[in-house]
Amino acid sequence: MIKPGGTIGILGGGQLGRMLAISAAQLGYRVIAYAPAGDAVIAQVCNEYIAADWHDADALKAFADACDVVTLEFENVPAAPLDAIADKLAPHPRALAIAQDRLAEKRFVADLGGTSAPFHAVDSRADLLAGIEALGTPAILKTRRDGYDGKGQWRIGSREEAEALDLPDTPCILEGFVQFECEFSVILARRADGTVAFWESSQNGHEDGILARSTLPGAAIIGQQVGEARRLAQAVADKLSYVGVLTLEFFASESGPIFNEMAPRTHNSGHWTIEGAATSQFENQVRAICGLPLGDTRRVAPRVVMENVIGPAAATAHEALADPAAHLHLYGKTDSPEGRKMGHITRLEWPEGDTSS
Ligand code: AMP
Repeated sequence: MIKPGGTIGILGGGQLGRMLAISAAQLGYRVIAYAPAGDAVIAQVCNEYIAADWHDADALKAFADACDVVTLEFENVPAAPLDAIADKLAPHPRALAIAQDRLAEKRFVADLGGTSAPFHAVDSRADLLAGIEALGTPAILKTRRDGYDGKGQWRIGSREEAEALDLPDTPCILEGFVQFECEFSVILARRADGTVAFWESSQNGHEDGILARSTLPGAAIIGQQVGEARRLAQAVADKLSYVGVLTLEFFASESGPIFNEMAPRTHNSGHWTIEGAATSQFENQVRAICGLPLGDTRRVAPRVVMENVIGPAAATAHEALADPAAHLHLYGKTDSPEGRKMGHITRLEWPEGDTSS
């Protein structure tokens, strides 16, 4: 167990790390963060911030030496340099290596009995056309690596579109288009001894490929499919001897839960847990990696809605506080271009006339 007063290292400097650092401070830990950017938002809330390249082996080693445990808030950290500090890392870099590659994660999940959208590896135009032949249209072409928030994705409506598409110069995967009723995610925390806690699955609404809203309770179909989705998520976590918080995203389809992707970290669709659950995803990540008991994950209000504050909306986001049910989180970012996640608002809602709150 890492006792309070110990030091947690965080790889990555964004809002997930920032909220993790705040939870770590609450539990009495020091935080050192490491990321390449000079102006990371985590730097505003942690004890020390190291701006260095992911491939700077000396800086990475010195960082790990100064920490009792190192975790991550960003899954596109290059995995290979992390092998040198693997004994400090939770989760282990093997989880990162799989989650970074859309093809590897689908194969990994298939081996554990999970179902993904039908897929086809694409490294050339010929592969793409063969994939279109096999999967039909519409289909979605995605870069295998580094995609996020709908970036690095192209919806292809016909063979002609596939022929005309300006192919990215990087390995891709073509996915068949899934007809789904809604989207949900399974978020779990796992300790080294195998203890696992799940949060309730929110219903996730996307706009322009970016998560816009998470709602709890979600649609009935999520309740029907979450058991199977959790079994898969737990199998993934157990197989990887996972320590920390792990997220798997699913489509709820007529034929059952369809795995979309995984993230070896806390997730935007779990931000509701800060006020909406007895213990947040960030606090349980700290507890899991430090070997503390996991906290109760239950939802604490009849209805919880989390909405992202995207781009220019940040300038007026404080107006949401006119509603006393609203909790505002702004991430401390200075520029607010279209499409950038600037913060979120969580509302805990009780039925009209309920005064138990
Ligand atoms: P992703 O980056 O894979 O999470 O994709 C972003 C969003 O695009 C998802 O949340 C879905 O709304 C949509 N999407 C991605 N892949 C598929 C698919 N194979 N079929 C239908 N919709 C998809």
